[in-house]
Amino acid sequence: MKLRHYLRLSTIAVVACASALGGTVGAQSALAAVPPDAAASSTTAQTVAPAPAPRAPRAPIYLTFDDGPFPAQTKRLLKVLERNGVQATFFVLGQLAAQHPEVVQMEKAAGHAIGNHTWDHRDLTRLSTSGIRREVVRGGRGIRSATGVTPRCMRPPYGATNASVRSVNRALHVKQVLWDVDTNDWRLPSTNTLVRRLMSARPGDVVLMHDGGGNRSRSIAAVARALPRMIKRGDQFAPVQACL
Ligand SMILES: [Zn+2]
Repeated sequence: MKLRHYLRLSTIAVVACASALGGTVGAQSALAAVPPDAAASSTTAQTVAPAPAPRAPRAPIYLTFDDGPFPAQTKRLLKVLERNGVQATFFVLGQLAAQHPEVVQMEKAAGHAIGNHTWDHRDLTRLSTSGIRREVVRGGRGIRSATGVTPRCMRPPYGATNASVRSVNRALHVKQVLWDVDTNDWRLPSTNTLVRRLMSARPGDVVLMHDGGGNRSRSIAAVARALPRMIKRGDQFAPVQACL
């Protein structure tokens, strides 16, 4: 869907990344630092070796999948995630959620977070404030019709955002979520390349991929290959906290 739209992303992504530094609620902010265990008693320290400080828990990686639901491939992706015991976040289009509510219900039932990717994937920075609001509200309603819940977070299409988008989100109590690692899977690089990009994610990173918007066979194959390796090296995964 909308390859032409995606081609515009290359220019907008720079804006998106810059804005990510400003107004985005990053997943990292939801992670509380765990203080080191400093409770070893000075009176016993001479005779009893203090217990080693527990290692701080490793921040999870937040996989996110945009532009769905695309029933056949979204279901395939859900199976891959389930096989690996990984929960992720789906930024779904309200229009598609209304058409395929059963797929969004499957995402939710499996413990994934659902975010609002607007009603029909417009570039919000080209709309009036009321137009932005309509896209976000309608998208949220489409998702609520499928899940019974209005999403608490949104991702603007193309990552294109500005002060008006942020202001509408604030008024609607919706948190904007962008990303740290862009796999650029919509450009259809090889599965090997996608595996490498996935594996470049570090603890705390939000990773952008797609389960809709076109043929995502390579994206799904890459997730299937990368996840066991990432889990083996100690990576953990979680839904974006701001979306729960
Ligand atoms: Zn999108």
